[in-house]
Amino acid sequence: MKSNLQDKIKGIIFGQAIGDALGLATEFMTLTEVKENYPNGLETYSDIIQDNHRSRWEIGDWTDDTDQFLCIIDSILEKRAIDEKHIAQKILSWYQNGGMGVGTATNNVLRIPQYTSNPHKAAEMVWNMSRKNNASNGAIMRTSILGIWEYKSFEKIKINTENVCKITHYDPRCVGSCVIITYIIYCILNDIEIIQDSLIEIANEYDNRIEEYILLGYKNDLSLLDLGNETNLGYTLKTMSAAIWAFNYALDYKSGIQQIILEGGDSDTNAAVAGSVLGAKFTYTKIPNYLIDQLLYKSQLDEKIEQLLTLLK
Ligand SMILES: [Mg+2]
Repeated sequence: MKSNLQDKIKGIIFGQAIGDALGLATEFMTLTEVKENYPNGLETYSDIIQDNHRSRWEIGDWTDDTDQFLCIIDSILEKRAIDEKHIAQKILSWYQNGGMGVGTATNNVLRIPQYTSNPHKAAEMVWNMSRKNNASNGAIMRTSILGIWEYKSFEKIKINTENVCKITHYDPRCVGSCVIITYIIYCILNDIEIIQDSLIEIANEYDNRIEEYILLGYKNDLSLLDLGNETNLGYTLKTMSAAIWAFNYALDYKSGIQQIILEGGDSDTNAAVAGSVLGAKFTYTKIPNYLIDQLLYKSQLDEKIEQLLTLLK
């Protein structure tokens, strides 16, 4: 594999983990609270305020988003394929062993007794119980990795992404937004130009409410997304849109995730997904070293990346 491609793949994985770990700084804060707590902005993990929510994680640790992203990698390393039931088992055992930070939808799905025998059915049941309203970002937060596996074929990536999204999130907005992100990663890895109309065409296969949020990602005004608004901060389309914005307008990896994090809301998830896209675009080499080295479990990522790269051709 060419070194530039390896550099992009490493960028996706570290980009996700760093966005998540740094994004914890403002998770669930309004814009006003962000300004109160971080009047001078945010540089690194040790700047993160230690309140009741944040002090549950050690400095430099990532949260559930990257834990579940790593469940997918672990499953790929074992199965050498995408096996959504195996991934579901991995996520369930992570959760049962004290996995922290899980959102309501995922929590409800994982508590269904027959979860591992039919995770899609369990997710559909929980979605039906929400009157088909719930479209939270608990799947998109972990699925960027699916743009790497089978990276030469969007057809395969699409099927894998749909299947892994639906083990917890059944809403077509969730599935479509996950596929949009893995399509963007597929394009970056294969040097294919990303066109707004192509994104809209893919989105419309799933749900016509996605288009509006693609268009927002093409406006150079992150505030339009109102990420810190408490009423719908965990909406999957907001997370997708922030990542599209980052791809289009961020000047580099660090400033892109910083801008998203300083908007508050579900900032760890928003920065994890945008971080994976920016890591692909700007590559691992361009991520500041201190953000990489100060990750608490950096060596774990290095080991998994090495194993994954040997499986990718
Ligand atoms: Mg999280």
